[in-house]
Amino acid sequence: MDNPLFERMNSELTRLRETGNLRSLPVAMCGHRHVVCGGREMLNLSSNDYLGIASDMALREEFFGTLTAENFIPTSSSSRLLTGNSEEYSVLEANLKRLYKSEAALVFGSGYHANTGILPAIAGRDTEIFADKLVHASLIDGIKLSEARHSRFRHNDLADLRRQLSEASDKNPETAKIIVTESLFSMDGDTADLQALVSIKHEFPNVLLYVDEAHAVGARGPSGLGLAEETGTMGDIDFLVGTFGKALASTGAFVVTRDLVRDWLVNKMRTLIFTTALPPVNLRWTNFIVEKLPEFSDRRVRLLEYGRTISDAVRKTGSACPSSSHIVPWIIGTSADALDCAQRLRCAGHYALPVRPPTVPEGTARIRFSLSASMLPEEIAGLAASIENDEPEG
Ligand code: PMP
Repeated sequence: MDNPLFERMNSELTRLRETGNLRSLPVAMCGHRHVVCGGREMLNLSSNDYLGIASDMALREEFFGTLTAENFIPTSSSSRLLTGNSEEYSVLEANLKRLYKSEAALVFGSGYHANTGILPAIAGRDTEIFADKLVHASLIDGIKLSEARHSRFRHNDLADLRRQLSEASDKNPETAKIIVTESLFSMDGDTADLQALVSIKHEFPNVLLYVDEAHAVGARGPSGLGLAEETGTMGDIDFLVGTFGKALASTGAFVVTRDLVRDWLVNKMRTLIFTTALPPVNLRWTNFIVEKLPEFSDRRVRLLEYGRTISDAVRKTGSACPSSSHIVPWIIGTSADALDCAQRLRCAGHYALPVRPPTVPEGTARIRFSLSASMLPEEIAGLAASIENDEPEG
């Protein structure tokens, strides 16, 4: 090694390899329902295609029927602030605004862009952020990029949040405070109590609520708008973020909020201003799916049932399972044991990847089952049997 930078990289990668935490890009031919790995076809339990839209050929064909050489525009060639702000953005944002009954909607390139862009834009030195301990890396990065003072409250522990807000309000009643949470947590598959968060927000002065619904949009709510819709809290969330890359089988993200905030973000949000706009054809597809969201109730009901079956199977192994959704963690413990378990599942035809530290806390390495309404009842039954009959070696 000729440079200390490369030496540091080498020793850190060696450490990760030795602790079973080295990440690599999986070599798998990824279909949406199935994955082909090592010449074997397995059920894909690691995709976020919750509603099965990505594998729905009928939907794809219907969408193809709406395309012409004229409207199939594969790139925007520019930032939204320059010439990339295609008509398709206005159509999609108007639809989101109507569905969420909000003053304004704004669409971004990805959920990562949304969270790492909105938080630094809205939260300055005079702001305090209170974030759930288990929020996604993109929210943590957004908080770090902001100049706000911040603290974390224990996962879903509203007494802890209330205590922190109370202390902060006594000390600095005038400062703006933002509670940051996911609605459906990506790693535990459990949900935040949005109604309680709304009432806590109203208990203290100057508190706003930021909710990331990445895993709930499409999958939850009577019209598929997410957990805020399901819990009747849509109107009380100041920044409701959703993504298109999961249940909606597209890419991109949005926030629904008030007009003033939209104007502010257009002026101040670096991940909106300094990046190429989404391709019009992609926005067209997203909008095509957004308009159909209310029609997918059967898929949402099936998805929830599948989640219950797999959570029950995990609990039967004696493992605590926090999930109340279509994301089901099987918490194994060490990274090495999680890797072994993933290997045994693969032998049984189930492609589920282990999630290890630092993505999850040390000692809680797990298999994360990400279910889809496109799975067949017999496939879910087969998975439940594999979990219940799993036998670690030694
Ligand atoms: N928020 C949450 C809660 C997520 O789980 C993810 C992605 N896994 C994101 C945001 C980022 O979304 P995107 O993939 O669109 O960048």
